[in-house]
Amino acid sequence: MIHEILSLKSEATKGRKFKEPASKWRTDFQRDRDRILHSSAFRRLMHKTQVFISHEGDLYRNRLTHSLEVSQIARTIAKNLNLNEDLTEALCLSHDLGHTPFGHAGQFSLNKSMKKVNPSSNGFEHNIQSLRVVDLLEKKYADFDGLNLCFETREGILKRCSKSVAKKFGDIAQRFVLGGQPSLEAQVTNIADEIAYNHHDLDDGLRAGLISWEEIILVPQISQQLQLIERSFPKLNDSRKQAEVIRRMINSQVEDLILSTLKRIKIAKINSQAEVRAHSLPLVGFSREMSVNVKSLKLFLHERLYKHPNVSEMNSVAKVVIEDLFYEMVMKSNSNNDLKELRSIADIIAAMTDRDAAILHNKWFPKKVCWPKPVGFV
Ligand code: MG
Repeated sequence: MIHEILSLKSEATKGRKFKEPASKWRTDFQRDRDRILHSSAFRRLMHKTQVFISHEGDLYRNRLTHSLEVSQIARTIAKNLNLNEDLTEALCLSHDLGHTPFGHAGQFSLNKSMKKVNPSSNGFEHNIQSLRVVDLLEKKYADFDGLNLCFETREGILKRCSKSVAKKFGDIAQRFVLGGQPSLEAQVTNIADEIAYNHHDLDDGLRAGLISWEEIILVPQISQQLQLIERSFPKLNDSRKQAEVIRRMINSQVEDLILSTLKRIKIAKINSQAEVRAHSLPLVGFSREMSVNVKSLKLFLHERLYKHPNVSEMNSVAKVVIEDLFYEMVMKSNSNNDLKELRSIADIIAAMTDRDAAILHNKWFPKKVCWPKPVGFV
């Protein structure tokens, strides 16, 4: 366990933009988590693509189930590191709120279209959009826009940001201007995100039949786990074997992460939150050996799954849909490519679910695109 001085405390929050009376029953970070959970943007994650577009099957991960898996992994890590679990959970549940329909293909297309229409627009980036959702776009309170979250939650949501954009966000983006690390709770969220998607994409890729057992045993960590399982359970069927391999891989990565982080904090003699932030590298991380394993898993997924012709075909259609919707909305708005107007068009498109976008596209451009047939439907 690390000293609790390194964990962010609700009582010590730098506060909310609009002052509110304290709750009798919940801490500030618990309230943030609950506000995120009750937001419309959170519910929309259910119909947004992770890797497989929703019409491909009900069992594949979407952004909502992904966010829940990230949160489960991160809470285990936070608890064992003595960090603030409520803040960590709030960061996990909100980390993908700004995603467009159709995953990264949708973001790529919206970013490119925004920059093309107005090069000074800064394009579109889902992290910045997540902050925009909680700061501005959720309309649930009588006296302010957004969810009025605590400084620490908003700061943790902003995972990436260019120096020029950071200046307009003030204190919460200070680290992108001056350099430095985010809180330990934000560092845990970032790695839990990676652990979750690497493993559930592997699981979904196998289920869809886009990658095979013959291929995946090329990844050292998978073949090691498989050997152990086959030795203990020689008659296990493929589906249980798959679940067992993935479960054990997540466990071993989480365990390695907790132990390596504790070791790193001890060796670096970190005794304050200021030292966490001033450290040259993130303190939450894997051992050197596990980093090699994680890298080889990521490389495998990149080459064999994310670049798979079926995934690429779906992404190409998604890019056309987002681009068409954007240009059509720009044309209808008569905006002269005004930045404020373009940003509100991007807000509308980013808020759409996959289905909203596909239906509107079919209305405006009937039968222009042909969605590929679903991959393995299980
Ligand atoms: Mg994510």
